[in-house]
Amino acid sequence: MEICKKKGLFYPDILFPHIYEITPDFLQQQKVKGLILDLDNTIAPYEVAEPDGKMAAWFRAMKTAGIKMAFVSNNKGDRVKIFNRTLGLPLFAGAKKPFTKGVRAALSALQLTPEEAAGLGDQIFTDCLACHRAGLRFYLVPPIKDKKTPFFRCKRFLEKPFVGKFKYYRTYLSRTQSV
Ligand SMILES: [Mg+2]
Repeated sequence: MEICKKKGLFYPDILFPHIYEITPDFLQQQKVKGLILDLDNTIAPYEVAEPDGKMAAWFRAMKTAGIKMAFVSNNKGDRVKIFNRTLGLPLFAGAKKPFTKGVRAALSALQLTPEEAAGLGDQIFTDCLACHRAGLRFYLVPPIKDKKTPFFRCKRFLEKPFVGKFKYYRTYLSRTQSV
């Protein structure tokens, strides 16, 4: 994990190489009782419809440890519902992050204060901004697998000033840009 020393709406608090480095022990040390989760490219790539064994085990470990979780996704429709079918988490789809409505609704569903929760996502201008604006700390993972469209390349380029110096992000960027 890499801790971001700079503070501000656009800076994540901590970067992780992937979700599996975030453990119940770590969250308990940080006094985090709940996670507000982005789905696409944070937990699973777009084309993965349902959690695989490794993802399911991660969710199970969190639940067992009493970590509350909810999905807040800008994706709407069946994709999020289908992915959540076996997990059964509170789900706020079409959330329009960076607006904070979805994040606040998730906090209230989990009965957590902003200080007790952490946001987890792959994007600065939606996930990070929405969580910080709602008063939550934010954990960033590099996107699992970006769509290789000019729009996505442009987004990642714009994120670079905030996260570009971090090892996990540099590795990610060099991987996508060389393809
Ligand atoms: Mg995402």
